Amino acid sequence: MPELERLTERLAAVLPPDAVITDPVRLRTYECDGLTHHRATPGVVVLPGTAEQIAAVVRLCGEHGVPFVARGSGTGLSGGALPRTDGVLIVTSRMRRIVEIDIPNRRAVVEPGVTNLAITEAVRDQGYYYAPDPSSQQVCSIGGNVAENSGGAHCLKYGFTVNHVLAAEIVTPDGEIVELSADDPGYDLLGAFIGSEGTLGIATRITVRLSRAPEAVTTLLAAFTGIEAGGRAVSSVIAAGVVPAAIEMMDALAIEAAEAAVHCRYPAGAGAVLVVELDGPRAEVEHQFAAVERLCRDSGAFEIRVAASAEERAAIWKGRKSAFAAVGRISPAYIVQDGVVPRTALPRVLAGIDRLQEEYGIRVANVFHAGDGNLHPLVLFDDTVPGEAERAEAVSGRILDLCVEHGGSITGEHGVGVDKARYMPRMFTEDDLDTMQLLRCAFDPEGLANPGKVFPTPRLCGEAPGVRRGAHPLVEAGLAEQF
Ligand SMILES: Cc1cc2nc3c(=O)[nH]c(=O)nc-3n(C[C@H](O)[C@H](O)[C@H](O)COP(=O)(O)OP(=O)(O)OC[C@H]3O[C@@H](n4cnc5c(N)ncnc54)[C@H](O)[C@@H]3O)c2cc1C
Repeated sequence: MPELERLTERLAAVLPPDAVITDPVRLRTYECDGLTHHRATPGVVVLPGTAEQIAAVVRLCGEHGVPFVARGSGTGLSGGALPRTDGVLIVTSRMRRIVEIDIPNRRAVVEPGVTNLAITEAVRDQGYYYAPDPSSQQVCSIGGNVAENSGGAHCLKYGFTVNHVLAAEIVTPDGEIVELSADDPGYDLLGAFIGSEGTLGIATRITVRLSRAPEAVTTLLAAFTGIEAGGRAVSSVIAAGVVPAAIEMMDALAIEAAEAAVHCRYPAGAGAVLVVELDGPRAEVEHQFAAVERLCRDSGAFEIRVAASAEERAAIWKGRKSAFAAVGRISPAYIVQDGVVPRTALPRVLAGIDRLQEEYGIRVANVFHAGDGNLHPLVLFDDTVPGEAERAEAVSGRILDLCVEHGGSITGEHGVGVDKARYMPRMFTEDDLDTMQLLRCAFDPEGLANPGKVFPTPRLCGEAPGVRRGAHPLVEAGLAEQF
């Protein structure tokens, strides 16, 4: 009997009867995440309801040498939750309890399947919210956010997930339940876990920081004839010492898509729009608003709209928040790319993307968190036209080259996953990658936690070795152990 079958029999003994899925049709529900062109039908899916059940599953995987992959809501855009056909997919969708809300200490304790927005909804009436706000916040899970160190439009001012997680209970790859806390002395293991994309264990309970809702919020939409003028406005706002809660930009093609999908009614003729949100004490917001409005006009804004109500604010955000899905209206297929560059390099990188569009005959719609230089180029293609998907893939990769050449990174917030593992050597040397693997191996010596993700070639640990060039220098020097 194959190992996975033997394991599946034992899984049924540690989980409720309806928590083990082996039916081939139901398994297909889980064959991909938000990066739909990578697919694999999982060997078996489990739906545990407690940390103890997850620990039991992980221990059994260890005993049988079977890999496992964690999955939250499956909205990831780098294929991090791509299952293994020879492995177990551990889905946290039954772990959606808000365990504790502690307003005096501004904390909430939640299970990993709780959606990002559900935390805010649970504390909104008391004047609080959970700050990191990925555009997918209605559905993505807090466990997935922790694994990806997710960001969102408001992370410019408030920081990423790592700045808002105070502690996490995790199941380690050997099936132990441990607590990691920001208050722990010694190495910041919680910090290492956040953003580890399911390769260091599975988060089973997360303590998040709650933020006080600001006294005032002002949202404005500024329209420019082109993206250069919008970029000038971003630079001058930041140079003036204003840190908006969010400063987002969309180019003409992204606006066209949003218009087609959600009729956002952005100003006609706009070659770029900026959405700027200011929040904080009322007096400060009013002061900053005057400065931002003037700087946008000085940079060439031909129309500025200010949201006068919550409905108008939502209308301004609707175009931006729906931008990824909206491009489906103007293109049969597309790749959502995610890269980051120093803000000052934005004009040069955008000019480079323009050149790539011409060179490859591929259209790119640009949506970005302009304040922190996080680009989301949407590379459009028609998958029924022979060769177009390959050209789109090439453009997508060359955009990452541009990011790295300009001192940026191959991912701003969507993670490396399976999709970008091959690009890691463009940023890191072999020794860098081996050193990162040492950390992974310390948590997961058998290499069973989400293997094949993040690193281009499995090295060290018990993973099938790639082309190694002898022992790692740290191992040779006796400073680290190779398991
Ligand atoms: C329309 C759209 C908009 C988006 N906008 C943003 C955005 O603005 N900002 C942003 O950062 N991202 C964005 N994303 C990407 C995605 O929503 C985030 O990466 C999110 O955090 C993924 O959460 P999830 O629950 O769907 O995780 P999944 O896709 O299920 O998993 C993602 C990764 O986390 C791991 N994982 C899941 N749960 C756990 C757990 N409990 N413990 C350990 N590892 C776990 C998985 O193994 C995988 O590697 C967007 C996606 C879409 C589709």
